[in-house]
Amino acid sequence: MPGYDVLVIGSGASGLAAALSAERSGARVALATKGSIQSCNSAKAQGGIQAAFGDDDSPEQHAEDIWKSSHETANMELVAVLTSEAPPAIRWLEELGVEFTRQNGGYRLARCGGASRKRLLQVGDRTGHAITKALRDAVEASAVTLFPSSPLLGLDEGWRARVGDREVEATTVILAAGGRCFKEAEERGELSTNHPGATGEVTQIALDAGAEARDLDALQYHPNGGTWPANMQGYSIPETTRAYGAVLLNADGEEFTDSLGPRDVVAQAIVDEVAKGKGVETPDGRPAVYLDTTRIRREDAQISLPYMLRRYRAAGVDPLAEKILTYPVLHYQNGGLVIDTDARTTLDGVYACGEIAGGTHGRNRMMGNSLLECVVFGRRAGRAAATAAR
Ligand SMILES: Cc1cc2nc3c(=O)[nH]c(=O)nc-3n(C[C@H](O)[C@H](O)[C@H](O)COP(=O)(O)OP(=O)(O)OC[C@H]3O[C@@H](n4cnc5c(N)ncnc54)[C@H](O)[C@@H]3O)c2cc1C
Repeated sequence: MPGYDVLVIGSGASGLAAALSAERSGARVALATKGSIQSCNSAKAQGGIQAAFGDDDSPEQHAEDIWKSSHETANMELVAVLTSEAPPAIRWLEELGVEFTRQNGGYRLARCGGASRKRLLQVGDRTGHAITKALRDAVEASAVTLFPSSPLLGLDEGWRARVGDREVEATTVILAAGGRCFKEAEERGELSTNHPGATGEVTQIALDAGAEARDLDALQYHPNGGTWPANMQGYSIPETTRAYGAVLLNADGEEFTDSLGPRDVVAQAIVDEVAKGKGVETPDGRPAVYLDTTRIRREDAQISLPYMLRRYRAAGVDPLAEKILTYPVLHYQNGGLVIDTDARTTLDGVYACGEIAGGTHGRNRMMGNSLLECVVFGRRAGRAAATAAR
């Protein structure tokens, strides 16, 4: 009998949610990750997580917005699961200790790019940190065996995984190793918002084992990378700045796009504006446009953007007193391994969840749906893998 029922690869929000759910379903679970347990993109997520809680909103409306933002390329079976399980996923996170920002007796909801309703829940502007901390605390208090500093190096049918210098046998494997935008940006000589572990080799291992993937070429640029001051280059300025009133302006101070359009449309509009000669230059010669953050109400900024304000002010710029400089930056892998609604890949006994999986966002993700995908499909993967291993 293999040593474990379920082996999870990766300790971001998706891997942690999967490990916890598999363990709570009665499985013997191990989690191996490349660096420390804390190291992941999920913890860097700032803006928030989407769920239809507004009186004028519904999971169907949420799904419709995803369909439009994905330019009709998303897998709507996966989307229906994502949006209908969003409210229960939020309740589950709350049970684990996540305290979403509240207002007037309900959640403080913001409207994010491509959304027709206010739907974004936040924990200040450190939502990913709050979610991963709660998940990590729960996993560390559970019977899950943790193998930090144990990168997946190979996967042989059965399943036998080489993680670091040990071999782990498991009946089922959940791949939750995130995307590849750090490596891709390095190769292109560009900036990225990603942590250095986002290098994509686990996707390649799955492809080599025969797994199918989709939309792997569709990489997302975050419309608002920081470009100045120098120590803010590559910082992802939360989309909630725009949700709370900031607008994009060209060199002449003119608005040139809907600042709350779908991500790819906004990013392209900035690139085009600069190409037309209507951009500005940073002191070190990088292209940029303005993000007029002075339009954000002080109270909104204090509640929903305190971390962003601290970062900029520490770098010598006050975003409430002056416009900041921004340009698109490589951010997210839209596509990934093909999965079904139980997060099963096309390889028997292998599951995938989070950024490594494809379909839920089609070729263009809306902000706030990635953390949601991690939780919804992480939980599904954990439960399904545990059941299959029995
Ligand atoms: C700066 C930033 C801000 C963001 N803001 C938001 C937001 O507001 N809302 C939103 O919904 N999304 C946001 N996102 C996107 C979202 O955070 C991520 O897409 C999502 O959290 C990915 O989660 P994951 O679990 O799939 O991967 P990750 O969190 O990246 O975790 C992957 C894990 O796999 C490990 N790993 C990698 N390779 C190996 C290997 N070979 N062997 C073993 N382990 C490996 C990594 O070390 C890591 O622990 C943001 C992303 C960034 C970078």
